[in-house]
Amino acid sequence: MTDRENGGLAGRDRTASCGGPYGGESGPGDCGDPARFEVARHLRAPLWVCPVHLGPSLLLADGVLWPPGIRLVR
Ligand SMILES: [Zn+2]
Repeated sequence: MTDRENGGLAGRDRTASCGGPYGGESGPGDCGDPARFEVARHLRAPLWVCPVHLGPSLLLADGVLWPPGIRLVR
């Protein structure tokens, strides 16, 4: 796969993969879906997750603010 193929893949560049449901610190994420939401965390980088893992990540990931700070990223 090369950068030159971006024309045929809409929105392919800079598309972050889901880091849920544990925040990607318990091992490599096995989801791989494109992230749709950014979950704000205390003293940690924001966590990007897909719709399926948005709920679980709020409950299981480290440092998630409460009430949660969620931003739609795409
Ligand atoms: Zn996911």
